[in-house]
Amino acid sequence: MSVATESTETFASLNPATGEVVGEHPVHGAAAVAQALERAREAAGWWRALGWKERRLRLLNVKGALTRNLNRMAEVIHQETGKPVQDAQLETIMAISHLDWAARNARKVLGPRTVYPGLMAINQRCELEYQPLGVVGVIGPWNYPIFTPTGSIAYALAAGNAVVFKPSEFTPGVGLLLAELVEGVVPEHPVLQVVTGLGPTGAALASSPDVDKIAFTGSGRTAKRVMAACAENLTPIVAECGGKDACIVDSDADLDAAADAALWGAMSNAGQTCIGVERIYVLDDVYDRFLGKITEKAKELRPGFDREAAYGPITMPGQLDVIERHIKDALAKGGKAVVGGAESVRKPYVEPVVLTDVPDDSSAVCEETFGPTITVHRVKDLDEAVEKANRTGYGLAGTIFSGSRSRAMDAARRMRSGMTSINAFAAFAQVAALPFGGVGESGFGRIHGADGLREFARPKAITRQRFATMNLTSFGRTEKEMARVLGLINMIHGRRYKR
Ligand code: NAD
Repeated sequence: MSVATESTETFASLNPATGEVVGEHPVHGAAAVAQALERAREAAGWWRALGWKERRLRLLNVKGALTRNLNRMAEVIHQETGKPVQDAQLETIMAISHLDWAARNARKVLGPRTVYPGLMAINQRCELEYQPLGVVGVIGPWNYPIFTPTGSIAYALAAGNAVVFKPSEFTPGVGLLLAELVEGVVPEHPVLQVVTGLGPTGAALASSPDVDKIAFTGSGRTAKRVMAACAENLTPIVAECGGKDACIVDSDADLDAAADAALWGAMSNAGQTCIGVERIYVLDDVYDRFLGKITEKAKELRPGFDREAAYGPITMPGQLDVIERHIKDALAKGGKAVVGGAESVRKPYVEPVVLTDVPDDSSAVCEETFGPTITVHRVKDLDEAVEKANRTGYGLAGTIFSGSRSRAMDAARRMRSGMTSINAFAAFAQVAALPFGGVGESGFGRIHGADGLREFARPKAITRQRFATMNLTSFGRTEKEMARVLGLINMIHGRRYKR
C-alpha cells in the first residue's frame, strides 16, 4: 500500500519513448516517510509473530498473485521504462523465482538450531537463531524495477521484517503494483508500503532513526550519500551499485555462442544493466573472427518501442549525454567505431555501437556507460584478459567463454567480482540460491540466496547451562581447577599437527 501524504505536491512518471504521462504520484516528504515507518514498526511486530509457516504461506501466495498478474506488471514496466514487453515479462519471472526461494528457504536458513559447544563448554546447550531486524527500507533503481527490488524485498519479508519501499522516480507504478499485490494477500497489516518521490524521499528514509537497515540499489554516487545519512544513526546498509563488467573470450570458445551472449549482455535493455557487458577481451587468435560475428549480429539490432524492437529507449534522459561523451572520447583517443558511432545517439534511442582499439584510459573503458555500446579489445592470453578485466574500481560480475573447464574456472576465480558466469551471460542471476553483490565501487553485502536472507536478520546466540562444572568465571575458582583446565587445553590444542 502507498502511504497517506501530507503534501499535495506530485510528480509524473513518463513513458521515455513517447513522453506521455504514465502516472501522477505524490512526493512523500519526511513526515509521510516517518508515518510509513511508524506503521511499518507495528506491522513488523505482527508479521514476526505470525511465524515461519504462516509467512511462508503468505509469501507463496504473493508469488502466486504476481504470477497471475505477470502481464499487468510487465505492461507497467514497459510503459515506465520503455523496455520490450518480453524483457519486462522475463524480469518479472525472475522476481517470481526469488519470492518462491525466499519463502521456501527462510526457516531452513534462519530458523533456530543448536550448535556444538566444544569440550570446554560441554555443559552449555547452545542455540543460534536469526531474528528479523524490524523495518527495512528498500531504495530501488529503475532499470530492472521489479527484479532488483524484489531481490531485497522478498528476502527481507521472508526473514520476518516489514518493508518501506522507495521505488525510483522513473518507475513508481511498478512499486505500487507490487505493494497492491502484497496487500491483497496480507490485508491485516502493511508489511510492504511504498513511498514515492525523488531523491529527498529516499534521503528521508535513509536518515530516519526508525529504520533498521537500508537496502540500496543504484549508482555509487547516491550510495555514498545514503551511507552518510545512515552513518548518523549507525543504520547498516547493503549497497548494490554500478559495474563495468567484462566478458572474456578464450581461444577455444564457441565463438557463435560467445558473440550471441556478449551482444545480449551489452545491448539488451539498451545496455542499462548493472551486470551488462561493457568490455570484451578476446584472445588474439580468435579476435578477428569474433569481431566479425558480433559486428554482423549488432548491425541487425534496432531500438524502438514497437513489439519487434530489440530494445527500448534510454529511460533516463540525462544518460544520453554520458553515452555520447563516452563514444566521442573513445573516438577522439584513437578508437574506431565498427558499428555505429557518435551519430547513433538519437534521442531517446541509441543504436548499437561497437568500438575497437579504444585506449584503456578512455571513459568508455573506465566508467559505467549504461548504454548499448561495447568496446572490444585484443589480448595476447588469458592472463592479460583477466588483468585488464580487473583494471577497474568496479567489481560486480563478469562472463567467460572458454572450451576448457579448468582454464575458465581458474579465470573465473581470479576475476575480481561478486559473480562470474561461464559460457552463458549472467546465469547466476537466474539462480535464486546464489548470492548477488559486488566488490569495490560495485558495493557490498549480498542479496539473493541464504546470504541474502541473512542480510536482513541478526544472529542471536543463546546459551543455557544444563549442569554445573568447574566455574572458571568466578572469584571462587581454585588453583586446582585452573591447573586441570590448563592440562586439558594442552592435551587438546598443544599437539603438533603432521601433514
Ligand atoms: P540512482 O543512484 O540515481 O537512484 C537510485 C535510487 O536512489 C532512486 O530511487 C533515487 O530516487 C534514490 N535517491 C537519489 N538520491 C538519493 C538520496 N540522496 N538519498 C536516498 N535515495 C536517493 O540510480 P539509478 O539511476 O536509479 O539506477 C542506475 C544505477 O543503479 C546504475 O549505476 C546501475 O548499475 C545500478 N544498479 C545496480 C544494481 C545491482 O544490483 N548492483 C541493479 C540495478 C541497477
